[in-house]
Amino acid sequence: MLTLEQFEAGVRAGDRAVLGRAISLVESSSPAHQALAGQLLARLMPQTGLSIRVGITGVPGAGKSTLIEKLGTYLTSEEGGAHRVAVLAVDPSSDVTGGSILGDRTRMSKLSADPRAFIRPSPSGGTLGGVARRTRETILVCEAAGYDVVLVETVGVGQSESAVAGMTDVFLAVMLAGAGDDLQGIKRGILEHVDVIAVNKADGGNESRAQIAAREYEMALRMVSARAGEGKPTARTCSALTGAGVREVWADVEGRSSEMRRSGRLDEKRREQNQSWLEELVRERLEHLIRESAGASAALEEARERVRHGHARPTAEADRVIEALKAGLAARGAGAPDMGRVAQP
Ligand code: GDP
Repeated sequence: MLTLEQFEAGVRAGDRAVLGRAISLVESSSPAHQALAGQLLARLMPQTGLSIRVGITGVPGAGKSTLIEKLGTYLTSEEGGAHRVAVLAVDPSSDVTGGSILGDRTRMSKLSADPRAFIRPSPSGGTLGGVARRTRETILVCEAAGYDVVLVETVGVGQSESAVAGMTDVFLAVMLAGAGDDLQGIKRGILEHVDVIAVNKADGGNESRAQIAAREYEMALRMVSARAGEGKPTARTCSALTGAGVREVWADVEGRSSEMRRSGRLDEKRREQNQSWLEELVRERLEHLIRESAGASAALEEARERVRHGHARPTAEADRVIEALKAGLAARGAGAPDMGRVAQP
């Protein structure tokens, strides 16, 4: 195990091996690792916040990884601004399949060999909430390591999309033109988060259909997703395969981001996101306290049974659980051990 100083120096120097280990530290659920991760994040905090954070969503097969490969290699090139690009994946399905994003290195073979890029597959195990929370922290660590573009990829599943939208500046949806497509996009809850749409696979004779779809999406977006200080949401076609339109998609993302910086909306949005992060951390620590308290977890188990069988009201049972927790905490007194600290902002 590296020391705090070694982690800090390695991340600051952009050492990719240390960066990888720092992310594993942040993802670890061991209380000792979490304590160290919290200290590391506190030290790195001054070097964070300077990247463009982009969420990327789309149903499997829409072409997200192909687009990320094209976009990423463009962004790291001199012409694309010589950016340093980090790619993170939030994939709830990886818990089930044992790592569906494991193929990332082959899916994004050019980008993963690019010295200016860093690809981190989805952490395996843990709840979606857990994965998403670590991703927030992972974004910060990547920023401290000098990555000025962070792309967070997620599959088209409602819960993970909201989670990723809640930790990025600009949310890009990769869509397809074609049958059943209106269903795919008009899930209102998802569209509300979307800032930029790329209608992909506009190639091989599919161009005009894609154009029509893009126009429809743009109209739909402007109805649900217009927010003050963020500029107008946009939809355009591209082909991740040929690269046509990919720069323009990035121009939309960047335009959106600079408009938000200019208007002050970016700061405001990140503060709001920090507020939700705080709420999540408090909730998580409370749950941890309950799990750690034998009395409270027994009370909760009992309460579940009683409510399931219709023997009790949830409100009264919730009170009992809280009372048991309070009693447990009081019994432990002032000398209570560290309750599994999680990383702090
Ligand atoms: P993901 O599941 O969203 O990451 O999708 P992938 O990037 O893995 O792409 C799924 C399939 O679509 C692959 O076979 C790609 O080669 C293909 N694909 C991706 N982008 C394009 C595109 O712009 N045009 C065409 N014709 N095929 C594409």
